[in-house]
Amino acid sequence: MARRRQIYEGKAKVLFEGPEPGTLVQYFKDDATAFNNKKRGTITGKGVLNNRISEYLMLRLGEIGVPTHFVRRLNMREQLVREVEIIPLEVVVRNVAAGSLAQRFGLSEGTPLPRCIVEWYFKSDALNDPMVSEEHITAFGWATTQDLDEMMSLALRINDFLCGLFLGVGIRLVDFKIEFGRLYNGDDMQIVLADEISPDSCRLWDIRTGDKMDKDRFRRDLGGVEEAYQEVARRLGILPEGGPRDLKGPALMQ
Ligand code: 5GP
Repeated sequence: MARRRQIYEGKAKVLFEGPEPGTLVQYFKDDATAFNNKKRGTITGKGVLNNRISEYLMLRLGEIGVPTHFVRRLNMREQLVREVEIIPLEVVVRNVAAGSLAQRFGLSEGTPLPRCIVEWYFKSDALNDPMVSEEHITAFGWATTQDLDEMMSLALRINDFLCGLFLGVGIRLVDFKIEFGRLYNGDDMQIVLADEISPDSCRLWDIRTGDKMDKDRFRRDLGGVEEAYQEVARRLGILPEGGPRDLKGPALMQ
């Protein structure tokens, strides 16, 4: 089989040229990094789970009219997505104080926020993803005020929907990071949800016990990382048939 052209390799994913023009294949790795690459590791089966979880969440969001880059899942670790021009921003939505927000303002983790808070970060490993304001974003030309309005409105819809979806399976959506891209169709441009939504990019806490079910287990050496990701998939009803045992199959060797 001809080797596919690799377009980009990130920390947790690889993008290959897709089978049709305007498409890409997004491959999910087991590699995990934290603190801007200072901590590295492997979470066995993470790529398979994140591929499934992100597929599921993008499909559900698509059903309520949120435009996404997702086309279809191809296999255990790959999905076909539309090629978009990534807007170089990480959009973080928070419902409960945790992580960098808790640190910055001296809040104890778990303090509910009076309303959800949307933050913008400039995507740059070299600069450690600095937080930026709308002024920086428009002045430096990363997005226009119309783009910002659209991303803000999509981020709030995504948050409302995902909060309810996770609550239904006993999980509190504490915060998450999303990315958007521009999809061109002739003269038209549409902003669509891109990248992934998974326990790598969300904080998910068990409603009853408060247990962390996300990448903080890796970041903070809490153990049980694989089991936590599996439990998220299980609650969403998307663990591969046969349960975690199926994740030990050849797909993990790819
Ligand atoms: P914090 O700013 O508290 O570190 O992160 C807020 C939320 O955004 C968390 O759910 C975290 O997982 C997510 N997040 C922030 N930056 C990144 C990033 O560079 N990559 C990923 N995957 N998630 C991020």
